[in-house]
Amino acid sequence: MTGIVIAIDGPAGTGKSTVAREVARRMRLAYFDTGATYRVGTLWCLREGVDLGNQDDVAAMVATMNVELILNPSNPAIVLEGEDVSRLIRSDTVALQVSKVATNLEARRILGQWQRDVIESERVGGYSEGRGVVAEGRDITTIIAPDADVRVLMTADEEVRVARRAGEGADVATVREAVLGRDRQDATVVEFHTAADGVVTVDTTDLTIDEAVRAVLTLAERVS
Ligand code: C5P
Repeated sequence: MTGIVIAIDGPAGTGKSTVAREVARRMRLAYFDTGATYRVGTLWCLREGVDLGNQDDVAAMVATMNVELILNPSNPAIVLEGEDVSRLIRSDTVALQVSKVATNLEARRILGQWQRDVIESERVGGYSEGRGVVAEGRDITTIIAPDADVRVLMTADEEVRVARRAGEGADVATVREAVLGRDRQDATVVEFHTAADGVVTVDTTDLTIDEAVRAVLTLAERVS
């Protein structure tokens, strides 16, 4: 027996992180926020004074950074050089620059391999003791884990997505750029607005978090 892999993709503000975490919590699976790998790579480059436009330098930094992921859905964390940077990687500074790392193809290859390794280790052991993992991002259903047991694309209307993020407390213009501007840049290297074959679309525009969670749990029940 190997564990279940649930892959959830989608743009910012669809609720995918909240839903992925809650599904993982209820099913006692690991929770893997793949966006955090891009965010921590960005923070590390900024801290070390590396020019984010220099593709080779960024790839080298990402390949050698010392990061530990805590996959507990009740208390997920990301530890850089021994420091918990879970909050810092959510800053506007990182959000507005992360696409530079995400559109660096060599950095994507390195981070993608790391993500595959994490998912594979949760299928057989790891934090979940082999129960499995909920992995969320932009290209998990298509590139990183195309053979995941459950593949979901989460969508929501643009204005709803901006409003949800603005509701988290920030300035609306910054939020708009951090959500829609980021999507535009990210979309140059990965497709996450249209579902690939076999991927189920869950539109959360009119759903509560609990309804979206239940939609994913129903899909998971069908395969387990
Ligand atoms: O999901 P989150 O907003 O934390 O993702 C941060 C950024 O990481 C995205 O804007 C995108 O640039 C990048 N990303 C990606 N592929 C993934 C997950 C995130 O390119 N699978």
